[in-house]
Amino acid sequence: MLSLLLILTACSSNADIHETRFIMGTLVEFTIAGSEQSRSDLAISEAAAEMQRIEDAFTIYGDVKNAVKAFNASPAGMPMELPVEVARLLTTSLLVQQQSHGAFHPALGTLNLLWGFSGQPTPSHHPSDSAIIQAIPSRLCIRHADNNTWLRINNRCRLDFGAIAKGYAIDRGMDILKKHGIRNAIINAGGDIRLIGSHSGQAWRIGLRHPRNKGQVLGTLALSGDISIVTSGDYERYFIQDGKRYHHILDPQNGWPATASQSATVIADRAALADAWSTALFVQGAAGLNDLQKKGYAAMAVDQAGKMHFNKAMQSIFLPAGKTQQ
Ligand code: ADP
Ligand code: MG
Repeated sequence: MLSLLLILTACSSNADIHETRFIMGTLVEFTIAGSEQSRSDLAISEAAAEMQRIEDAFTIYGDVKNAVKAFNASPAGMPMELPVEVARLLTTSLLVQQQSHGAFHPALGTLNLLWGFSGQPTPSHHPSDSAIIQAIPSRLCIRHADNNTWLRINNRCRLDFGAIAKGYAIDRGMDILKKHGIRNAIINAGGDIRLIGSHSGQAWRIGLRHPRNKGQVLGTLALSGDISIVTSGDYERYFIQDGKRYHHILDPQNGWPATASQSATVIADRAALADAWSTALFVQGAAGLNDLQKKGYAAMAVDQAGKMHFNKAMQSIFLPAGKTQQ
């Protein structure tokens, strides 16, 4: 009896478990290898609920009430207490802003609301020059008052965690899978990925999407352990006006969609960091690759002409499409 049970468990643990949920405006795919169905189902349900909680806690859209919206509506200049979780992600965001020389800006909410990319339907015309100029926040926009209190300098400063919250949600989702004893898994939220372990003893294979040719990949990466890989692209939310593409990643310097890249990919330990840095790198373009190398993050950027640029760490692991691994 005992040996039969063992065999059954071994059999059922061989098949991958796939689950898809709609969270944070995107399809989130959970893949689990080497775990029983019941354990995986429970872990995925809890992880998805946690990711939904994070979306609700950080979004500045929709009807849900949260501290971020309350902060954005608070009188400028008046300190307001933020929940520890929000204050923590804000602190991380401000650090990325500083280290990316302003390419990442955590308080672009007014500008983003003006462009309207995060609403429905996707906009089809760009705002006027003067409206854009009036919505650009200054670089030092959000100030730490004391303890967990923060203030907005003026009404242009509205927190927008759109470039980091998805990554943070993936991190929390993965923490929950781990807590349930899952050792080999991928959480993929529309191309923002964290993975742990391996796949039947082999590294996980991750394809990097071609920014212009849907269904094609630029290349693949073989990754294992506990690592995050996030891509920001101009192909997800955009419109074409007068033959020109306008998309949802904005250059905080001039308030217009950033023009340096078609896509940018960063590998970091945590998905929140890979998410924030892929947005920053998208704005910076290939010029930002060296700084990421110094931080120990593998990264690549596809420039406006479609040319790929790598830092050393990425060059050494990237397998171009069409080539097979030795
Ligand atoms: P996606 O959400 O498509 O994965 P990103 O992670 O790059 O893409 O995040 C883009 C979102 O981040 C925008 O929708 C907006 O909310 C916000 N955002 C846009 N430009 C910036 C920027 N320069 N710095 C920080 N956040 C930004
Ligand atoms: Mg991002």
